[in-house]
Parts: sequence; structure tokens; C-alpha cells
Amino acid sequence: MASVKRLSLEVIEALATEVLMGRGFSTDQAGAIAETVTAAERDGCLSHGLFRIPFYVAALKNPSANPVAEPTLRVSESSVVHVDARGGFCPLALRVGEPALQEKAGRHGIAALAIHETYNIAALWPEVERLAEAGLVVFAFTASNAYVAPAGGTKPIYGTNPMAFGFPRKDAPPLVFDQASSASARGEIQLHLREGKPLPEGWAIDKHGQPTTDPAAALEGAQLAFGGHKGASLALMVELLAGALIGDMFSIESKTQDTHNVGAPFGGELILAIDPSHCNGSADHLSRAEFLFDEVLSQPGTRLPSQRRYTARQRHIAEGVDVSTAMLDQLEQLKNSKT
Ligand code: NDP
Repeated sequence: MASVKRLSLEVIEALATEVLMGRGFSTDQAGAIAETVTAAERDGCLSHGLFRIPFYVAALKNPSANPVAEPTLRVSESSVVHVDARGGFCPLALRVGEPALQEKAGRHGIAALAIHETYNIAALWPEVERLAEAGLVVFAFTASNAYVAPAGGTKPIYGTNPMAFGFPRKDAPPLVFDQASSASARGEIQLHLREGKPLPEGWAIDKHGQPTTDPAAALEGAQLAFGGHKGASLALMVELLAGALIGDMFSIESKTQDTHNVGAPFGGELILAIDPSHCNGSADHLSRAEFLFDEVLSQPGTRLPSQRRYTARQRHIAEGVDVSTAMLDQLEQLKNSKT
């Protein structure tokens, strides 16, 4: 078994902040990223926890990345608010944009937040959960780097393009799902490579277009969408929403910004928020949702999306998180290295 060290969430957040600030991130950028990374460790989402810190640092090799960027908010009479991340990282841009999105959704019933020119190396559930916790129904989309072949094709065009959805609950944290439109997140393939484990079938093809379970060959070739052409259409939709619609990059364009091939997607994120009080004028949607959830959960073998995270959260808040010593060594090296 790999050697691990148990750390509290406070220690994890302080460590992430220290490494990032040591590598030139501003207090605000580092603090927002560290919060997101710590939330991922807390919820047992390892591919977006401390594992991502080296990606944030490596992203700074790209000329468009700005570790001290101060995102700017643009609000007009319209129900769409914009944040220019100015080459900074998404967690801080979200902090800047979410209050305005909430205000607009409350006023107009439906509103959108478009984040521009940002490095998005994170999961989408943190923002979706925060907004759903505030009572909104939420959708989030972001394109990434071109890693996924279109249905029937062999060359990467789409990103792994996640989409997330959140719905508030009565006496429980929100219902949230957050999923890549690829058969797996790229981070999962990187984790398999790191651990020397083969991939499940159906995740990827090699550079010759042949199915592969070798993580290294998969990273050189192309990932596959989940569910064949249906997942590929969702990946295409995400490109159009987070790229064409809000005037930001497609995944094939984002890849051109990734000059050192560090796997740091650059582009936009679109969040749509609906205030349910404009839809039916009562809190009945919460009871209706619980009725449906009860029906689902009455079947053995089922669970709600996000339940695994919430269960892991309770445990990790109480007991701390086991972090591999290999990861801690890597972060220590990162802190002390200037390259
Ligand atoms: P998973 O396939 O692990 O999970 C997808 C969703 O399905 C989760 O909400 C999960 O809930 C839910 N789920 C899993 N099993 C069940 C089940 N048996 N019953 C009900 N619900 C279930 O996620 P992906 O690998 O597709 O994506 C992982 C992460 O990677 C996402 O957070 C995504 O945002 C991120 N990502 C980010 C990118 C970026 O460019 N920024 C690019 C691509 C992905 P639970 O969490 O509770 O298990």
C-alpha cells in the first residue's frame, strides 16, 4: 500500500496556498484555487485535489497565463453578466461573478454568467453547488483542450467538456451532477498512468485510431466521448455554449494557447441560473423533487449523484484526508524549485 500522511483540511488548504504563492500567484488567486483544491480533497475527488497544483503552476509557462490577474466584472441592464478573467484562473473569476449572477437571476428569473479568458483546471461542481445552495437551479459548461475524437473520427477536436447541473433540496445539500462528456476525465487517465494501471475499455484510441487500454497510448491518441455519438453531441454542444456563444475559444483553439503542452485549458465558462420562484411561485419544486428522489432511492442499488461526495465530505471533515507522501514530496519540490 502506498505511503500516506493524514492531514486536516486546514493543513491541505494552507499547503496549497503556500506552494502557489511561492510560485508567484497573488493572494487572491492562490486563495481561491486552494479553496477549490481543498474542497476536492474534502469530497474525495482526487483528480481535482492537490494532484492539480502542479498543473496550475505549469500553466504559468503559457504566455497568456497571469497568476496575479484581477478579474473584472461587467454588468449591464441585460441578465447576462460577464467576468474578464484576464488570463487568471477560474476559481477567482467565479468569486467575482457569482454574486452578480445571483442578483440577476433573482431579478429576471433566469440569468447567465459568462467567464472569459480563464484557465479552467477545476471541476464544475463547486460553483454549481454554491449557487444551488442559494436556491437556484444551475447549469455550467466549459470546453477544454482538444482531446476527444468526434463520433467516427480518430483525431481530437472536442475537449473533455464537462457539464454540471444543480437543483436545491429541502433539508439536504443540493442535488448536483458534474460529468465530462468524454468516457473519462483526462485526470483519470493521468492517474492511471501514474499508478501503472490499465484503462477500462472504451475510454480511448491510440494515435492510429485503434482502441487502447494503455494510458500512455491514450494520452498520445484520442479520448472517446461517453455513449458514442450521444456523448459526442454533448461535447459539441459545450463547445458551442462555452465557445461560440460567449465569444471564447473552442478546444482546438485552446490547445494552441497551451504552448508547453501542460494540459491547462484556456477559454470560457458559461453558467445558467434559474430562480425557481419565477417558475411556480412557491417552494413546491422542493417537495416535488424529494418525491422523485424518494422514488429513485426506493430501488436497491441506486444513489443520487453527489451522494458519494457528501458522504466522503462528512468523513474527511471529521477525520482528515490521507495524502500520499509521493504527492507531498512533489509539492515540496515544487515549492523549492524555481523552474
Ligand atoms: P464521474 O463519471 O466520476 O461522475 C459523474 C457524475 O455522476 C458525478 O456527479 C457523480 O456523483 C455521478 N455518479 C457517479 N456514479 C453514480 C451512480 N451510481 N449513481 C448516480 N450518480 C452517479 O465524473 P467524470 O469522470 O465524468 O468527471 C470528473 C470531473 O472532472 C468533473 O468534476 C468534471 O467537472 C471534471 N472535468 C473538468 C474539466 C475541465 O476542463 N475543467 C474537463 C473534464 C472534466 P459523485 O460525485 O457523487 O460520485
